[in-house]
Amino acid sequence: MNTENKHTATNYCELAQPGVRNLKPYLPGKPISELERELGISNIIKLASNENPLGASPLAIAAAKQALEEVELYPDANGYDLKQKLLALHHVDMQQITLGNGSNDVLVLLAETFLAPHCNAVMSQYCFAVYPIATQATGAQLKIVPALAAEHPDMPLGHDLNGMLQAIDDATRMVFVANPNNPTGTAVAAAELRNFVVQVPEHVVVVVDEAYSEYVADADRCDASAWLADCPNLVVTRTFSKAYGLAGLRVGYALSNAQIADLLNRIRQPFNVNSLALAAASAALDDKAFIEASRAMNHAGLQQLQNGCQQLGLQTIPSRGNFVLVNMGGPADGWYQQLLRAGVITRRVGNYGLPDYLRITIGTSEQNTRLLEAMQQIAVQQQSGRG
Ligand SMILES: *Cc1c(COP(=O)(O)O)cnc(C)c1O
Repeated sequence: MNTENKHTATNYCELAQPGVRNLKPYLPGKPISELERELGISNIIKLASNENPLGASPLAIAAAKQALEEVELYPDANGYDLKQKLLALHHVDMQQITLGNGSNDVLVLLAETFLAPHCNAVMSQYCFAVYPIATQATGAQLKIVPALAAEHPDMPLGHDLNGMLQAIDDATRMVFVANPNNPTGTAVAAAELRNFVVQVPEHVVVVVDEAYSEYVADADRCDASAWLADCPNLVVTRTFSKAYGLAGLRVGYALSNAQIADLLNRIRQPFNVNSLALAAASAALDDKAFIEASRAMNHAGLQQLQNGCQQLGLQTIPSRGNFVLVNMGGPADGWYQQLLRAGVITRRVGNYGLPDYLRITIGTSEQNTRLLEAMQQIAVQQQSGRG
């Protein structure tokens, strides 16, 4: 095939709708295979995308394998079996659940449903990168509310919910809150979040993204789906990508009032969730022990990373997720590159406006130890002037 560009006078950028033309693409974590190719090394660990180091439940894997036997058939477009399990979990009706190809899919469906060039969406500085992308792609405006200060005693870099309320105007159609938030790891208490949600005017859809909910300790967990009955403008999103360990299969969901779910259902692709993903997610919900083990390991690993960073003189943002944002005390890029050479992939967050931080996913205790040893060596090199 001829791969040379044909000469053309047409600039397709100018033809694209302005919202798309000005988008900056999402920057994913570096895949292990890419670093293997680049450096010719093996035994790489990836602590870059908040994946579950324990893998997935054996029940989920077995169900996906079983589903392969019928891979010639289209998936159940309504996801009946999975929805049955979800309605028992969340005490909602079937009509309130929208399944997605990852929760990213439902976030995009929500933006496509409610946003257009004349309106805006409110979100926090340091919010999840998918919110501005999904918003801008529709041509709607972003209203970014400054985050709490890095010195804030309870929630450094966290969402300023009062500021977000004040930013809402007549043209606002959506507001996004991730709880816990990525990349900061910060979380608001249930009472505070509920107080915010009930104050958001009804013409604004308030999305509460609970991607990391399963990692929050029972006593602190906030399940916003319990408020759906008296908050008609609330949408709660969840994912199987994080604690459930099914990121590669792509499945997530939104819980909302039935009218909103009906709208999302009109624009989604009829088969947006594949049959392996449906089967694996259903089975994963039966394995509570796997989620508990993941949460316990994460809790221990978070302590390990926080202590290790403290010993290196590096500050961390208190996290409720399966990752921690570490202040590297200066531009983080050098650390990132040196960690790559040590076979450890972390995540830079310069694109979030946090160039001095790395976001590090909590691994197994062995992985955390390896990361901390690599960081220790880099710190020593830096002190002897070779960093
Ligand atoms: C990882 C993540 C998601 C989920 O992404 P999927 O598309 O479900 O894999 C959603 N929101 C936040 C805040 C996340 O960090």
